[in-house]
Amino acid sequence: MEFPDLSLISTDTIPASFHGTDISVDVLRIDKIHPVISGNKWFKLFRYLEMADSKKKKRIVSYGGPWSNHIIATAAAARLFGFTSLGIIRGEENGIQTPILERCRQWGMELRFSGREEFDRLALSDKNTQEDDLVIPMGGFGLPGMEGASRILEHCQAAAYSHICCATGTGTMMAGILNSIQPGQSVRGYSAVKNDLQLENNLKQLIAGKAEGYQFSTDKIFGGFAKYNEELIRFMNDLYKASGIPTDIVYTAKLCYAVIRDMREGIFPSDSRILIIHSGGLTGNHSLKNGQLIW
Ligand SMILES: *Cc1c(COP(=O)(O)O)cnc(C)c1O
Repeated sequence: MEFPDLSLISTDTIPASFHGTDISVDVLRIDKIHPVISGNKWFKLFRYLEMADSKKKKRIVSYGGPWSNHIIATAAAARLFGFTSLGIIRGEENGIQTPILERCRQWGMELRFSGREEFDRLALSDKNTQEDDLVIPMGGFGLPGMEGASRILEHCQAAAYSHICCATGTGTMMAGILNSIQPGQSVRGYSAVKNDLQLENNLKQLIAGKAEGYQFSTDKIFGGFAKYNEELIRFMNDLYKASGIPTDIVYTAKLCYAVIRDMREGIFPSDSRILIIHSGGLTGNHSLKNGQLIW
């Protein structure tokens, strides 16, 4: 397995003929850096892995659901850095098996299922029970994750944009981006998860009340987390045809859809220059039937 290659990051444009407005909208393709440790996952993980290295830890422990992009990225990254790993998976004993968890096992990750109540209580904590373990909270949540994500905008001409739009799960990436913007720029987060209140609390906890200039869009796009329909699949194929940009059903397709909807509805001033963060997640499309997507 190779290390992520940050030189692959590009800035692509969604043509006006596709969105039908005068606003310019670019997409920062951090998804391109690695097939598995993709997009924001690498940015949120690398500080934790450096810490594990310098503290001479042996094992990486982290939390996630059975379809988690974070868990599969953690399994791959731990392997790459030469650590063993343990994934604590949300679900009852011997919970569901998924292609994601299968790949995790192949990379040597030990898996343990944890009931919902216990999982929810522990998943955002970084407390370890064994000396040799470095615990990464779910989604890379926490200051090291945020610090890593604050490096994302270094990979484009960030000063050219008025609005940065990103998808949110734990809010860690959004906190990092908020920490790295210039005065006058703003960040708009599009929630892919159900519990939006928790999201805003998470964000405030990370940025310690410092930042201004952010907004959330928390409408349940296409019915909530990981839900999709024919219209979304059609949008994904049309976007790909128009721009060459592949998206994922959980985060980035809904993000692009909602940003374009908001552009058309006048949510952004007409002289806005929008940057959408393509945070990765293409492994999530494995749950689709073959042939639904044209790429
Ligand atoms: C995990 C993930 C997110 C959520 O990131 P947070 O930092 O947890 O908010 C967004 N987009 C993609 C593609 C992801 O895989």
